[in-house]
Amino acid sequence: MINGASVGGCTAAILYARQGARVALLERRSDVNAHKVLCTHYIQASAYPVMAATGLDKALEQVGAIANTADYWTRWGWIRPPHDPAGAHGYSVRRETLDPLLRKLAAGTEGVDLKAGHTVDELLVEGGRVVGVAGTAREEPFSLRARLVVGADGKDSTIARLAGARTETTENGRFSYFAYFKGLARQPGDAARVYYLEPDNAYVMPMEDDVTVIAAVVSKARLDEFKADLDGAYTNFVRSLPEAPDIDNAERISKIVGTVNYPLISRDPAGSGYALIGDAALTSDPLAAVGCAWAMQSAQWLVSESAPAVTDADAASGAAVDAALARYGARHAEETGPHHHLIADYAAARPFNEIEEFSFSAAARDARMAAHFHTFGSRLMTVEEFLAPEIVARMEEVNGHGLSDEVLRRLAGEDVAGSGDGAADDVFEGVAR
Ligand SMILES: Cc1cc2nc3c(=O)[nH]c(=O)nc-3n(C[C@H](O)[C@H](O)[C@H](O)COP(=O)(O)OP(=O)(O)OC[C@H]3O[C@@H](n4cnc5c(N)ncnc54)[C@H](O)[C@@H]3O)c2cc1C
Repeated sequence: MINGASVGGCTAAILYARQGARVALLERRSDVNAHKVLCTHYIQASAYPVMAATGLDKALEQVGAIANTADYWTRWGWIRPPHDPAGAHGYSVRRETLDPLLRKLAAGTEGVDLKAGHTVDELLVEGGRVVGVAGTAREEPFSLRARLVVGADGKDSTIARLAGARTETTENGRFSYFAYFKGLARQPGDAARVYYLEPDNAYVMPMEDDVTVIAAVVSKARLDEFKADLDGAYTNFVRSLPEAPDIDNAERISKIVGTVNYPLISRDPAGSGYALIGDAALTSDPLAAVGCAWAMQSAQWLVSESAPAVTDADAASGAAVDAALARYGARHAEETGPHHHLIADYAAARPFNEIEEFSFSAAARDARMAAHFHTFGSRLMTVEEFLAPEIVARMEEVNGHGLSDEVLRRLAGEDVAGSGDGAADDVFEGVAR
């Protein structure tokens, strides 16, 4: 049973059904064309293999989704990775296109039963193990037993709340507002533009049908200014961007929408009889644009760990499923933990730390480091790979200076006095504040 038929839930449903599982895919919204509004639609390249596995890649290309890439503005100039059409990419596609398409793909997969208009509000628990859910559909109560209950129900996950999943919250120091435009000139290769304005950020992302979304991601120190005159503050902010998109000669086709408080939420992704995927497990900073990709990828990690146990007709108890869920939990932490650690630290809207200055400036100065930077931002490499010794040496060469001794010792995994355990995923600790 999967609760939530959005990016993560539909992906998991397709992958489980392909492994022979019978899947009930519950969704509280009754309109199968419903879509998420708060999203700026950039799916990172790290999710490409999952999209290829579900067939979503071809479906997206047919509706004109953009094979995405990006340039990045910094105080050292533009970071311009090569835009190779045959290279690794994700897709930029509006949720009003993506969500119905993915839901249709899931509903059309043999073994998936999409139950729209079903709201879960209770867990069935036996002997401390989650064994099903109960809720309401068209004002009628329903209940459903399942070998595994998957919470794919977003950042305010009902499954996580009812199961009492351990939760960590980090404040987000920025708010964001965005709007959609038609008729904006595009960059070569349809590249998105991401601005690091220290501490503010902005991005300009082209999508299908000549639509571009422009987001202002601004330090909360400026919230009053935006609250007093949203239209004026947003428009001035966009106009003042370096090489600003020419919004005065484009058509704005939407209201300005956004969110003024979006804390980052990290939960234990598995417990006895249940698992969490997507935002239910980890709501990272929207600024990093990792949510959709990680929703798909966490679905795939879960299915690859648990499908054999879930589909084993001879399994007498939930022990094999729970063992698989523990493996999924460990994998989720390993894949997302170090990345999210850095993202959460940057969400404080603080100035760049020493490693950010060092790596961003090197990427602005050197084509190879630009490609490396983009690959990291696309979440196609680990934090350790991003700062491997030969990479740090190259950055030093192009910058004409090195990192401080303290940072180098941290990168080498040394426990610098008073700094904790020196674990590899803590490389930015200390220098980050
Ligand atoms: C401003 C903003 C910009 C963003 N931009 C990007 C971006 O550019 N790129 C990117 O990758 N990510 C972005 N994100 C994040 C992205 O939107 C999410 O990470 C992604 O939607 C998570 O997918 P999901 O399937 O886990 O959850 P969701 O998409 O939130 O779906 C949850 C589903 O569960 C259903 N549901 C909830 N509760 C229940 C219940 N009790 N019973 C039944 N059904 C239920 C909901 O109706 C919904 O369909 C952005 C987020 C914000 C706020």
